[in-house]
Amino acid sequence: MSARPDVYRFAPSPTGYLHLGNARTLLLNALPARQGGRFILRLDDTDAARVRPEFVEGIREDLDWFGIVPDEEHSQSERTAIYQSAFERLRAEGRIYPAYETPEELDRARRLARASGRPPVYDRRALKLTEADRAALEAEGRRPHWRFRLSDGRIGWEDGFRGAQEIDLASLSDPILVRDDGAFLYVFTSVVDDADLGVTRVIRGEDHVTNTAVQLDLFAALRSRPPAFAHHNLLTTADGEGLSKRQGSLSLRSLREEGVEPLAVAAYASLIGSSEAVRPVASLDALAAIVAEERPSRAPARIDSVELAALSAKTLHGLPFEAVSSRLEALGVGGGEAFWEMVRGNLATLGEAAEWWRIATVALKENAERPDPDSAALIAEAARLAPLEPWDETTWKAWSSAVSAATGAKGRALFQPLRLALTGWPHGPELAKLLPFIGRERSLERLKGVGGEPAPATSR
Ligand code: GLU
Repeated sequence: MSARPDVYRFAPSPTGYLHLGNARTLLLNALPARQGGRFILRLDDTDAARVRPEFVEGIREDLDWFGIVPDEEHSQSERTAIYQSAFERLRAEGRIYPAYETPEELDRARRLARASGRPPVYDRRALKLTEADRAALEAEGRRPHWRFRLSDGRIGWEDGFRGAQEIDLASLSDPILVRDDGAFLYVFTSVVDDADLGVTRVIRGEDHVTNTAVQLDLFAALRSRPPAFAHHNLLTTADGEGLSKRQGSLSLRSLREEGVEPLAVAAYASLIGSSEAVRPVASLDALAAIVAEERPSRAPARIDSVELAALSAKTLHGLPFEAVSSRLEALGVGGGEAFWEMVRGNLATLGEAAEWWRIATVALKENAERPDPDSAALIAEAARLAPLEPWDETTWKAWSSAVSAATGAKGRALFQPLRLALTGWPHGPELAKLLPFIGRERSLERLKGVGGEPAPATSR
């Protein structure tokens, strides 16, 4: 008998753009699902006041950027009927009760409790309301919100990352499941969905540990088998501050705009602060195999943008042509595999491949670095000795040897002025490989531009 595949989900609220910490949660779910499970994208979009269509679009773009394709997608805003029926069940069983306190009243009660040394836990006073009390409150214009009556005692689970966990439910307030405007709240909708969609594994940030105690109690009340939970450590900024969706700087969107490689972001977000070293990977599947072995640390992990940029460059250097060909095409970079193999080791971002393509086949950059005027004689000689076409990878060696023989220049004194004249840049791809793309005509123009005489096409 084969085991049923595990079902994972990523459940962002589209109330901001996803950041690197959200990416950690996304990947720790989506990657194991690639190894024989199913992956659900669930949009937790019940907070109508904060949800915006551009954030929904942003989440889709981010998944697309990583190359993650969900097996299913759901939006909580379209599932109200399911929440309503679960609500009725809990209500019929007396597990939920209406309460009428305003946010200000609740806040005052919490402050009072703290001041008198009691934990700021809701005292269940609404449970004592009679029918007549409730009618009177409603006559005042108050509408009820609905609380779930937590069980007594402690609740425990074996956390996939943190080991055995136990929380005393008496230390928690009965959670509000439905707001006074009728909106269902996350702690409830998430449980109803996880049960209804057959989710077997929930991997999420440590900030949800307490929710898990409440949600396990809800699963029990709904007589649903709970998923296995695992809570990972959180990522922070370099200063140790928590990430928030409102703080754009570490958003996936901004990293994308900066040209950071998606595969590097995936590796960074999933491996930082874990038992596995942060390292470049060749594909999401390769990363999934590493993530399957990792254990997140208990301490938060600090994001280091310099480390991320270095990982991005290394990732790029290792990418085979097939992995980038469509992106190169979109950037207008030609030259096929030969150009990619030549250029990749020099790139910090893929966008730089387009700059090199332009240098090779169109023109030098505007801020090109020019050779020292002292090298005019050397450059004139190089122009005079330019071999006839066709040019291939052997051309540079033959040409530079001839220039060396004619001028006596060697090593850096020979190569650097020519590199600057031909590419406008003090370093870059191997000239032997770049030269065939530049070609004779452009090479001669460039040499002429810095003092070399044009040579007629027939001269040697
Ligand atoms: N919408 C919740 C969040 O973004 C989902 C938490 C969960 O995975 O249950 O934090």
